[in-house]
Amino acid sequence: MRVTVNPTTCIASGNCSRTAPRVFANREEDDGYVSVLDENPPESEWAAVREAEDLCPSATIHVEDDPGTT
Ligand code: SF4
Repeated sequence: MRVTVNPTTCIASGNCSRTAPRVFANREEDDGYVSVLDENPPESEWAAVREAEDLCPSATIHVEDDPGTT
């Protein structure tokens, strides 16, 4: 899985870091805008990452599956 975000669309809602805190951060020093902590998270994080993608109100999070995986 590869995780990317579009920094121009993030509205700093914080849903992603609440849902997948090992993969996303909303740091005070970044005014709450998203940072990706792990662009290639382990399988144990995939469900949380997909949930964060679904919950993001501005479609900022983009998830690509690795070829050959589901
Ligand atoms: S859920 Fe989306 S809009 Fe909210 S902080 Fe995360 S990336 Fe930004």
